[in-house]
Amino acid sequence: MNLQGKTALVTGASRGIGKGIAHTLAKAGANIAFTYVSSVEKAMTFEAELQAMGVKAKGYQSNAAEFAEADKVVDEILKDFGALDVLVNNAGITKDTLLMRMSEQQWDDVLDTNLKSAFAMTKAAMKPMMKAKSGSIINITSVVGITGNAGQANYAASKAGMIGLTKSVAKELGSRNIRCNAIAPGFIETEMTDTLAEEVKAEWIKGIPLKRGGKPEDVANCVLFLASDASSYISGQTINVCGGMVM
Ligand code: NAP
Repeated sequence: MNLQGKTALVTGASRGIGKGIAHTLAKAGANIAFTYVSSVEKAMTFEAELQAMGVKAKGYQSNAAEFAEADKVVDEILKDFGALDVLVNNAGITKDTLLMRMSEQQWDDVLDTNLKSAFAMTKAAMKPMMKAKSGSIINITSVVGITGNAGQANYAASKAGMIGLTKSVAKELGSRNIRCNAIAPGFIETEMTDTLAEEVKAEWIKGIPLKRGGKPEDVANCVLFLASDASSYISGQTINVCGGMVM
């Protein structure tokens, strides 16, 4: 699965799953544009790490929750890289609490960062992809978007929304040779899941047939497949990368 000469944009890649995705795509030869919001130092270090792998790489500080920033960052990327072949909508946050206590702000923050951002980035990226008559858009959703989860109504709604967005984009843009798929990770060990109590983590792992949490690379390998021509007849699908937790 060679991505030599392709340019991929991964949102939220200063750490966690996004970082793993960017690293894996760079290993396959892709030039990497990535975004982050607050981790300036981590992003700079990662940018240098990617460049040392022999690909073109640049990090952009861009808040996924701000609709107008999507067009701005895609314009900058097109100036810097000259093309955009793969978009990975990965940036995401949680603000977990029971519905009874959930504020409008907690709802809006999660929906804006996770779902509205995927809409905004897709709208911005589809223009160069339509011109090129080719593109692969990959949305990182969650198994929770399929099953729902107590204490995560905002997060689960945002992730379920991404699956609907994925199918609609696949239907609208398929005739332009632009594919759109979603990946639903289960329990992946990153800073996002580090905040969970040990008992909660143990409970999650108990329900996973493969009896372990996933690694960012497990998700990244699936992204590589969906970004590459090896998946050229796959669109509108959601692939669960969850150790068998959700079937
Ligand atoms: P993470 O470790 O918390 O990393 C989140 C990344 O997103 C960071 O690079 C962060 O940048 C960036 N980000 C956050 N808010 C942003 C914003 N407003 N604008 C731009 N970038 C922003 O999370 P993760 O575990 O890697 O999760 C990545 C994605 O996978 C998310 O969409 C998440 O919902 C999904 N997912 C994760 C799991 C899991 O078990 N970990 C399971 C299912 C789905 P800064 O460093 O600058 O803050």
